[in-house]
Amino acid sequence: MSLEIYNTLTRKKEIFKPLEEGYVGMYVCGPTVYSDVHLGNCRTFISFDVIYRYLRHLGYKVRYVRNITDAGHLEGDRDEGDDKFSKKARLEQLEPMEIVQRYTLGFHDVMHLFNTLPPTIEPTATGHISEQISMTQEILANGYAYEVDGTIYFDVEKYSKEKSYGILTNRKLEDLLEGTRDLGGQDEKRGRLDFALWIKAKPEHLMQWPSPWGMGFPGWHIECSAMSNKYLGKRFDLHGGGMDLAATHHTNEIAQNEACFKESPAQIWMHTNMLTVNGTRMSKSLGNGFLPHELFTGSHPLLDKAYSPMTVRFFMLQTHYRSTLDFSNEALQASEKGLKRLWDAFETLQKLTHTSSEVDAELEEKVLKFVNGFDESMNDDFNTAKVLANMFELVPIINSFKDGLIQIGAITAETFKLFKNNMTVYLTDVFGLKADAKVNNGKLSNVLDLLIEMRKEAKAKKDFATSDKIRNQLKEIGILLKDEKNGEMSWGVE
Ligand code: AMP
Ligand code: ZN
Repeated sequence: MSLEIYNTLTRKKEIFKPLEEGYVGMYVCGPTVYSDVHLGNCRTFISFDVIYRYLRHLGYKVRYVRNITDAGHLEGDRDEGDDKFSKKARLEQLEPMEIVQRYTLGFHDVMHLFNTLPPTIEPTATGHISEQISMTQEILANGYAYEVDGTIYFDVEKYSKEKSYGILTNRKLEDLLEGTRDLGGQDEKRGRLDFALWIKAKPEHLMQWPSPWGMGFPGWHIECSAMSNKYLGKRFDLHGGGMDLAATHHTNEIAQNEACFKESPAQIWMHTNMLTVNGTRMSKSLGNGFLPHELFTGSHPLLDKAYSPMTVRFFMLQTHYRSTLDFSNEALQASEKGLKRLWDAFETLQKLTHTSSEVDAELEEKVLKFVNGFDESMNDDFNTAKVLANMFELVPIINSFKDGLIQIGAITAETFKLFKNNMTVYLTDVFGLKADAKVNNGKLSNVLDLLIEMRKEAKAKKDFATSDKIRNQLKEIGILLKDEKNGEMSWGVE
């Protein structure tokens, strides 16, 4: 059974053959840390976390590089304007690096709450300025870039004479040009698709570095080319990110690498589809982003209640990474219920022991089919949704074992062992779910329901001292009670 991965570059599923046996080099574009990550960003990072976990489960040694973008993102889409870090720093009267530190720590906290594993290397753009300058020099020397007053632009037209610039998203240069605005004689760029590798800094620009072309800062795309090259080499196995990055950022990365090293960086390009809200992509610029903490506390106005990090993780895994995922209260509530059902069954299974009796060949076959189906589904381009569907087919069987409706001996001891093992390995190691699910679903939830009942009674009796005491003391231990419009109360973890 071999792993097949959908490659954006070839637009088909390909059997995965790592360049070096037993080893996988994987690069994922990380967050831009001038503000909090939203749930859409988390979807991409959780998807790649599961991919990373599955590759390790298959026995590969994985070098997983996920960068931190802490410089070089300009406000405008045409290499103009202030960079986002400097703008935020000015607004808040902080050093740009204080902004970077704050949001990097916040990002790590969120990743930890979602139980995602850290990458094996997490390089920053500002820590690799010299590498980005070297690559820019090389691209200039190879004739694919030009300088205009201290700014270096990549020459897309020149590159297009030899290579297909739109190869990743299968678009012709003419079509790409049609989608861009006319330069109108205002721009210093030669071509409409040209992009900056290095940008001359105005004296007031807060983040700038010396270069052969004077003081400046790197363009955004060059950082990923420079860092992937440094840690994974000229050619590596997998490159990933959200689908919104394919048309520009990743297209430019390929062009930079080809122009510098005469090689395209990754064998396989993987893109996660978008998390949407009412059908619109969740994005920082559109301002429709939910922050993870708003979900965990239920404080976002569009939310009916709070959801635990594991419910949200589970919600994401229930959809294949290449499909869009629309965010809604109903979908999250269904995931919360689904996770509880599954986790309860999983815990029950752990407690059951096998005793031999007459084997039911049909049941034996059914269990084996579903349990072995986990690997098959994951080998089919990491189909987490299908694995979970298989698991739900197994839940009634576990419950029937528990209730004595079916003898555990109706399946063989080996199949029972495999059943237990695969459920554990998949739910915890591969999918990265953990018992935190119980916080919202298990005993603690019952205790909180009781406290909420007591608080409602206190309020009804106008005993506000007791009502406030319950709320305040829960807050002290990190549990937030939220008063709903209809007099109901819900709770969330801070
Ligand atoms: P950013 O911090 O904006 O550079 O984005 C970090 C990662 O999140 C990138 O891989 C993006 O492609 C991805 N991303 C951004 N918005 C969404 C979304 N709505 N759904 C899924 N992934 C997203
Ligand atoms: Zn990148």
